Amino acid sequence: MNIKAFNDDRIVTRSNNTVVKQYKNSVKQHKRILIKISGEIFLSSYFIEQVDNNKNKQFDDTNLNKLCNNIINILNTGVNISLVIGGGNIIRGKDFQGNNLIKRETADSVGMLATVINGIIVRDVLKQHNIDAEIVSPLDLPFDIKKLNTFTLNKLVSKSKLIIFVGGLGVPYFSTDTISVVGASLSHCDVILKATKTDGVYDKDPKIYPEANHLDNITYDYAIQNNLQIMDDTAFSLAKQLNIPIYIFSIFEDNCFVKALNRSISMSIVN
Ligand code: UDP
Repeated sequence: MNIKAFNDDRIVTRSNNTVVKQYKNSVKQHKRILIKISGEIFLSSYFIEQVDNNKNKQFDDTNLNKLCNNIINILNTGVNISLVIGGGNIIRGKDFQGNNLIKRETADSVGMLATVINGIIVRDVLKQHNIDAEIVSPLDLPFDIKKLNTFTLNKLVSKSKLIIFVGGLGVPYFSTDTISVVGASLSHCDVILKATKTDGVYDKDPKIYPEANHLDNITYDYAIQNNLQIMDDTAFSLAKQLNIPIYIFSIFEDNCFVKALNRSISMSIVN
């Protein structure tokens, strides 16, 4: 293993041909962060490749506990969390674009409700781990879900509450990526952690081109111009305007959120 020290507190470690940059004490720089995950990560088949169709649960206990433990590890460092969970384990509106029977707008409405379902489940599982979370939404909803507005958010932030955003922006044609940026700004987060299936952005598809280069840093404009599928263009564009960096890394790495904040895993930073 080669270790090289840099003046900017960075260490580059080479293992398995992967270059990993580590910034000592990076976690301590953050007060509140926003974590964006897809609802898909609750599916049994997300972490285990071969799952019998009958056993592919929409809400896998192991996956839910794994997420909560990863969240708790961040909270234990003293960093507060805002959380956005998509609805991809249930429905995604854009899959219905052009469908004559189920209209896109209907599918989007159901998609928003899917994020509500996921949020309520995660709030409950977190409670079982002794973490109190508050859910906010632009939609009028039962089950102790607060209305999303700046006053409510400021109050929750001042109480250092874990905030879960559900129901997206409350209107169709968006994904939960956009509410992630809006929510990050309104709840005073200094970074968005976007956990995905890959460890960041490459200059070519690494599955097709083994010589593809991992891009450690990219600009918002690069993300938009290259139509990266990792997040919506609308979200990248708003993040640029609001100057919120986005860290993109793999959810398959153990304790990925803490490692991402420490910059001790392979990832791409959009800023
Ligand atoms: N959605 C919407 N408006 C929003 C946010 C979400 O209509 O502001 C709908 C949209 O259909 C989306 C679905 O909710 O596909 C679930 O969200 P998303 O696709 O972001 O879930 P993920 O892929 O992250 O699991």
